[in-house]
Amino acid sequence: MHGLTLYFLGTGTSQGIPVIGSEHPVCLSDNPKDKRLRVSVWIYSEEFSIIIDCGPDFRQQMLHSKCEHIDALLFTHEHADHTAGLDDIRPFYFKQGDIPVYAHKRVLDNLSRRFDYIFSNENKYPGAPSVSQVEVKTNESFHVKDQEIIPIEAMHGKLQVFGYRIGEIVYLTDVKTIDFSEIQKIKDCEVLVINCLREEPHNTHFNLEEALDFISLVQPKKAYLTHISHLFGFHDEVQAKLPENVFLAYDNLEITI
Ligand SMILES: [Zn+2]
Repeated sequence: MHGLTLYFLGTGTSQGIPVIGSEHPVCLSDNPKDKRLRVSVWIYSEEFSIIIDCGPDFRQQMLHSKCEHIDALLFTHEHADHTAGLDDIRPFYFKQGDIPVYAHKRVLDNLSRRFDYIFSNENKYPGAPSVSQVEVKTNESFHVKDQEIIPIEAMHGKLQVFGYRIGEIVYLTDVKTIDFSEIQKIKDCEVLVINCLREEPHNTHFNLEEALDFISLVQPKKAYLTHISHLFGFHDEVQAKLPENVFLAYDNLEITI
């Protein structure tokens, strides 16, 4: 398929960059590529508009990207840096009605507890948004409009997470381990987005070495690193060290394939 656009809404790890109160040189950098909102992407074509994750920077990301319509909101997992902005779907809800939310059952249950006023149909406060829930299951692809979406299962330490293959784009974040059978679903894609926290190892995230090994295994045409910590270093310095087909993503980077 052509005419598919991948827009990086946020590329930072859980605290974002700059970290509040931090005097780390990367947090003090003037380079816009060193400023990172919480991780999220917008994947769209003329036919559909899909957002993956909805962290605490969602409102700002929607305003800046000028995203004005959401056909599907896909969640990778329930951690706050991926979900805490859910209340700000309100303007979309007012225009479109219930917003379709796709996630693992565990994540839907978690969000129903934390955002009970959004998920429940009883005693609705006027102005509260609503969603329709769609459970994502391992090995079951689904469609948004005419676009097939293939869920990819991985582990974030002990927590199951979903990534998604949308045409030739694969988005995977918060991965530490992934089964061989899942890797087969993403082999030879055109664009792979994969989390890479920093050079030092971490319990629940790929570091640079693990991310590069994974990229060699998948062999995408191009790979983009995301979910980046300030401890990884300055954007331009890290980019200079990366292999030819690997790029450090940055906020508001837009790629059309
Ligand atoms: Zn995360």
